[in-house]
Amino acid sequence: MFFKSNEIIQDTDALIREHSEKVSLPLSQEDKELAMKMLSHVKCSQDEEISEKEDIRPAVGIAAVQVGVLKQIIAIYIQMSEDEVIELAIANPKILSHSVQMTYLKGGEGCLSVEEDHPGYVPRYARIKVKAYDCIHDHEVILRLEGYPAIVLQHEMDHFKGVLFYDHINAVNPWEPIEDAIVIE
Ligand SMILES: [Zn+2]
Repeated sequence: MFFKSNEIIQDTDALIREHSEKVSLPLSQEDKELAMKMLSHVKCSQDEEISEKEDIRPAVGIAAVQVGVLKQIIAIYIQMSEDEVIELAIANPKILSHSVQMTYLKGGEGCLSVEEDHPGYVPRYARIKVKAYDCIHDHEVILRLEGYPAIVLQHEMDHFKGVLFYDHINAVNPWEPIEDAIVIE
């Protein structure tokens, strides 16, 4: 189950700048199916054979607005190592607390909705504590994330406010060092 490439909203579409609404709980069947399809999309996108054949761009996360639905739903799938996978399909995530320390990806970020390269550092909180509704297991969860998964979730949550990763890049000096930040290779 995945979205066709022409179903993914691009940043040339004004919809990508819209705000997403919270979903009502318990999750409706429609919202649950959307969350599961989004998660499946991200998984499929990481399968070389499927992604090539179906022309799906590889991704680690997706927000509902990217498939044209203005609801606070996110799916994330990250293979951290051979036996550790971070798999999330969540609704209404809220950051309860975060570190003062920042982090960023050394190579910058990318996005399914952004075709062009936007080089530069994107500062994110290094550690976040998030309350969310787990759409897979149907209950509320508290997530404590750090490093790469924390960056991915913050990127996806930005989509709820119509914010794109390149909005955070220092326009004058995109590669300006960020003080005390953890660099992720
Ligand atoms: Zn994105």
